[in-house]
Amino acid sequence: KPRAERQRLPVVPQGIERDAFLQALAELKEELGAENLEINDKPLTDGWYMEHPNTHDMMTILHEEELVASAVVYPGSTEEVQQIVAWANKHKIPIFPISMGRNLGYGGAAPRVRGSVTIDLGKRMNKILDINPEDFTCLVEPGVSFYALYEAIQAKGYDHMWIDSPDLGGGSVIGNTVDRGVGYTPYGDHWACHAGLEVVLPTGEVIRTGMGALPGNNTWQTFPYGFGPYSDGIFSQSNFGIVTKMGMTLMPNPGGYESFMYTFPNEEDLAPLMEIIRPLRISNILENVAQLRHVSQSIAARGLPRTTFYTGAGPVPSSVLHAAASSSPVGDHTWAYYGMAYGPAHIRSHKLALVNSEFRKIPGARKIDPSTLPPDEYFWSRDRVAAGIPDIQELRWVNWTPNGAHVAFSPVSPIRGTDATALFKLGKARHEQYGIDFWPAFCVGLREMHLIVEIVFDRHDPERKEAALACLRDMVDDAARLGYGEYRTHLVLMDQIAGTYSWGDGAIMRFNERIKDALDPNGILAPGRCGIWPRRYRGRGWEM
Ligand code: FAD
Repeated sequence: KPRAERQRLPVVPQGIERDAFLQALAELKEELGAENLEINDKPLTDGWYMEHPNTHDMMTILHEEELVASAVVYPGSTEEVQQIVAWANKHKIPIFPISMGRNLGYGGAAPRVRGSVTIDLGKRMNKILDINPEDFTCLVEPGVSFYALYEAIQAKGYDHMWIDSPDLGGGSVIGNTVDRGVGYTPYGDHWACHAGLEVVLPTGEVIRTGMGALPGNNTWQTFPYGFGPYSDGIFSQSNFGIVTKMGMTLMPNPGGYESFMYTFPNEEDLAPLMEIIRPLRISNILENVAQLRHVSQSIAARGLPRTTFYTGAGPVPSSVLHAAASSSPVGDHTWAYYGMAYGPAHIRSHKLALVNSEFRKIPGARKIDPSTLPPDEYFWSRDRVAAGIPDIQELRWVNWTPNGAHVAFSPVSPIRGTDATALFKLGKARHEQYGIDFWPAFCVGLREMHLIVEIVFDRHDPERKEAALACLRDMVDDAARLGYGEYRTHLVLMDQIAGTYSWGDGAIMRFNERIKDALDPNGILAPGRCGIWPRRYRGRGWEM
């Protein structure tokens, strides 16, 4: 039968009999209401970004049945999240929270353990609980997307406040932040900009962090630390709690902004450019997480399939890339730098003049005049995102292959020419080995940069999926040998990457496991996420 018509048996998590499991689900359905629990027995449909599944990863790199949920539940309140956690403890059933499940490139909505019950927090818990126009803060539930927050602020006429959005605005403010995602205004480090959490612990208790622990406080969103150990950190990139509320700081409207774009001719310009960018970025002359992108990805950002330019096997040759780019602003150059200056014109002009004189030190550097660029040019998507206006144009490069899907390799390094060159070479060699197009984009933070390499593959082509995964695994190991680690990763690579953070004979993982066992004695919450396995699962072959 065609895939769409095939009936599926619900997946049962390991360690529980099918009948006992179905009975436990019936019990939870009774508690939450029939409409708030769905068994995953329907065909797996991938949908698209706006109508994505919550049962699996719509961009899976494994076989589609590998990481799937057995059921999805929709709590409507913190109390209902507590009820679900109590139920999971009673039956020892793994649960996996998502806010909106648009974690594309990192596992989408999929749980790490097959057959987990997914808690889709965002469907019903989607309120903006507060927007404070004096403190420049807000308090949100998991289902609040960047678009929703932006639109609510606009609707209230609060022109004096900006949000910060990742490249795609359809994700959850909480989901993105707890996974330590990034955006492109000066408030782009979302985790650094959050203030205060409400968390349901794996045993069902609720805590409020920072000032939220003080009854009657009015500083939960303005002072993130409170008193005593700063506990928020253990709830990001972990499996130690379910975040049900989060405070976020908002950026003051800077009173004007101006995007700029430079291109640089040669691949070898990378190292001297990084030496120029570092002092400018650390001193905040370059004010946002700016991007230095290779021409290869700029071409793909137009949304055309690869076959428009090349039908041969292996990576698209450099000459073809340059021919394809000749009608774009990158032209015959190799690197494109996208940045933004903030503030009124007289302040911007001072900073832009400094940037200009520094960037011009690269022979052949070209400044692109934005007024020459058509409205659908990628530059304008960067312009919107860096001005805190949510967008989804970035999705276009996924069209590079049929059934386009992607996973990312994202190592962190200082902003140095030597580091950039080492990572570039490492990535390029492995992509050539596996016949994959290489799209390096250096995202420059404050004192570090993430090299983001997106591998786009046909998710219906097992051979290309295998090649993509093998390439990623090799790059992770190569990078670790040179002392580089990833800032975030896909579910499938979590064990491997956690393993590279091995100083002191794995001291940090032993510490994480001790916390896990103390907070989650039954090991029910997102087992294996970020490589942290509860005692019940350890040493039983779950790692991959
Ligand atoms: P979710 O999928 O809801 O959450 C992510 C993970 O965090 C979950 O799997 C879960 O393990 C955990 N989690 C979520 N909510 C909770 C909770 N309440 N309590 C405990 N744990 C929780 N990302 C960026 O950061 N920056 C970018 O610029 C960016 N660009 C992208 C461009 C493209 C083309 C694509 C396809 C993806 C991009 N992404 C980017 C990745 C991803 O789309 C975003 O990070 C997105 O915001 C994550 O999805 P989400 O917000 O729905 O989070």
